[in-house]
Amino acid sequence: MSPHGGAGAARAAAPAEAGLAANAPTYPCGDPPAAGSAREIAPGVLWIRMPMPFRLDHVNLWAIRDGDGWAIVDTGLQTADVAAAWRSLVAASGALGGARVTRVFVTHMHPDHVGMAGWLTRRFDCRLWMSRVEYLNCRVLVTDTVREAPEDGVRFYRAAGWAPDDIEAYRARFGGFGKMIHPLPDSYRRLHDGERIRIGEHAWRVVVGTGHSPEHACLHCSDLRLFISGDQVLPRISSNVSVFPTEPDANPLADWLASIAKIRGDVPDDVLVLPSHNDPFAGLHARLDRLAGGHDRGLARLRELLGEPRRAIDVFPALFARDIGRDANLLGLATGESLAHLNYLVARGEASVAPGADGVNWYRRIAAPAAARAG
Ligand SMILES: [Zn+2]
Repeated sequence: MSPHGGAGAARAAAPAEAGLAANAPTYPCGDPPAAGSAREIAPGVLWIRMPMPFRLDHVNLWAIRDGDGWAIVDTGLQTADVAAAWRSLVAASGALGGARVTRVFVTHMHPDHVGMAGWLTRRFDCRLWMSRVEYLNCRVLVTDTVREAPEDGVRFYRAAGWAPDDIEAYRARFGGFGKMIHPLPDSYRRLHDGERIRIGEHAWRVVVGTGHSPEHACLHCSDLRLFISGDQVLPRISSNVSVFPTEPDANPLADWLASIAKIRGDVPDDVLVLPSHNDPFAGLHARLDRLAGGHDRGLARLRELLGEPRRAIDVFPALFARDIGRDANLLGLATGESLAHLNYLVARGEASVAPGADGVNWYRRIAAPAAARAG
């Protein structure tokens, strides 16, 4: 499971989108803070950045003044570097001024967000605030860490067209999810979509999105005109929207596109967006439009390719500008995203899927009445 936006990053550089600078996001907050420090970007709101040992090398966290302490939003991976950064942040002389952490909000279950939540809640004896599906799903996925790769997963990637060597790489890598997550607290405080929560002097509204993860909580403060978007809206990369072996028939792209429309309707355009990756930016609605447009263009290229029967691994050129190659992580991301787009077309009756005798799925465009393709 990918902790963050992945193969989709390639799409930001796709030829179809190059040169579209109009209404591009603007970045009013300057350079990011160094690991272990923090930077105030609005009254009582701090920007914190943690390192990650991946191609995407950082994640942003936020601290919100909460009475005599700080509410933290997202926590970073469980790594030695992140733990060291947290120790300096919370030290008496640290960027949080030696004040306590009052509670820990987590936008969603991916390790770069939830990784250190258990560490922080235990250290400060405070609660974890998280949506129910994210909390429960995280606990389930963490239990995979001590298991062998399941046959369902092998069947899933075989069906996508993976070669035996790639299946072996999947088996070898399986179970990494929980290694980057400190043991979760055994209870949590549930976040509900639409709920208003007072943090310090201001009310923040929970805005749930789906598609990248099942019940991703964003936080909107109309007083401060801030929108903590997590991985739901990123300025420079497109969020990973993937099908995973646990639910091979899922249609996360439909969820994702509905979430983009919902956020556009629920959150005004004049907010400063605080995303988990890249820098804080202005221009939310234009960014949402561009993300939706990117998926539309990918789907159009995919429909073209499906004039002939294709496997999931055959459609990468429709969706990714880069050569995906054989890197196991990138191949997994690209396969999951390709299946998200294929399942979307199948669910709309625009494509069919038929398994071959070897268990490999072949997708093909269905010539549908024009009315069925509209909208
Ligand atoms: Zn994520």
